[in-house]
Formats: sequence, structure tokens, C-alpha cells
Amino acid sequence: MSFAELGLNQALLNAVSREGYTTPTPIQQRAIPVVLEGHDLLAAAQTGTGKTAGFTLPMLHKLASAPVPAKRYPRALVLTPTRELAAQVAESIATYGKELPLKSTVIFGGVGHQPQIDALRRGVDIIIATPGRLLEHINDRICDLSKLEFFVLDEADRMLDMGFIHDIKRVLKVLPAKRQNLLFSATFSDDIRTLAKTFLHQPREIDI
Ligand code: AMP
Repeated sequence: MSFAELGLNQALLNAVSREGYTTPTPIQQRAIPVVLEGHDLLAAAQTGTGKTAGFTLPMLHKLASAPVPAKRYPRALVLTPTRELAAQVAESIATYGKELPLKSTVIFGGVGHQPQIDALRRGVDIIIATPGRLLEHINDRICDLSKLEFFVLDEADRMLDMGFIHDIKRVLKVLPAKRQNLLFSATFSDDIRTLAKTFLHQPREIDI
């Protein structure tokens, strides 16, 4: 199977070929169609399997298939447990989305608030964030997620291990009811399944 056969747009096909990817990895072969079809997804995948492209490519495809609104607002949110992972996912989104008219920004703690506030005020389509700082911007009314279309929880097992469950629930409370949800986790523990039940709607399951 090729990336073209998965139905991704030309800008994304150009990006994967620039990266030297010739064949989609197993998680990509299974996740990309599920996301493109609009289903929620519960996926068990380790780092190194190509999971990031597995959710960012179809998400970028769907975001780019509608005209960019006159005033940008957050349409997709990727929550990660660490700054490092947020930066990596943001880098992947910038690389794959290079030819697309979408803007993204990364939000995490330990750095100044103002540059993040400025970026959010200028308008973004995609936010990649760790939970704590994102909640500060939400509470300060800097970040409005009321029209979000995609919610992705990456490395959900690490999020729970790091004690982010309450922060995740606070973020979920400010999201609109109608949206597509994706959960990636290295393992499917009982806690992950319980969390998944709180916000995934009839998810397709992938276990690589
Ligand atoms: P991830 O599991 O998302 O952290 O990705 C692991 C690494 O695999 C990253 O360095 C990607 O650039 C690379 N990668 C992702 N998809 C592919 C692919 N289809 N072919 C070759 N390398 C890939």
C-alpha cells in the first residue's frame, strides 16, 4: 500500500516523499483511513512506529479540505505529556503541513507566556500543548476551544502516570460536543480504557 492509495492530498504526498517515506508503516496503514473516515480512534502504538504521522497526516488532510476561515480559530488540539513530545509533534506538523495554508503553535510551561499569547491572538488552526499551560491560557480567556474539530491525546498512558487526569478532564469540559477524538497510548490499561470511555464515541481500535 502507498501513501497515495490512502487518499492523502498532493501537498501531503509531496511532504512524505521529501521526508523519504516510501511506504506507510502498519499503524499508518490502519489509522489513516479510520481518521479520514471521521471515526474516533483508540490506538495502541509505541514511539518509533510512525504513530505521529499516523494521526497528523489525516488530520492535516481533513483540516485542509475545507477553506481556511476568514478569522482563524483553533480547529485541532494535540495534548502531550511533555514539552519534548509537544515540540516533536509540532515539528512533524510543520514539516508535513509545509505546503498547506494552516498555522500551528506549540504551548508548554517553563517559558514566557507572552509569545504564546501573541501567537494565539494572531490566530492558529492547530495547537500542540501540554495540559498545565494550556489551561492557564483557557482560564485567562486567551484560548477558546469552543469550535474545535479534532482532539488528540498522545501518549495517554504517560499522561496518566504523570498525574494529568484532572487537567485532561478540565480541557475536555471546554470542548464542543461534536468533534473527532483520537487516543494514542503505548499500552491499554484499565485506566486508559476508563478514560477512553469518557470521551471517545464508538471508537475504532487499533493494536499494533
Ligand atoms: P514516531 O513513532 O511517530 O515517533 O515516528 C518515528 C520515526 O519514524 C520518525 O523519525 C519519523 O520521521 C519516521 N517515519 C514515520 N513514518 C515513516 C514512514 N512511513 N517511513 C519511514 N519513516 C517514517
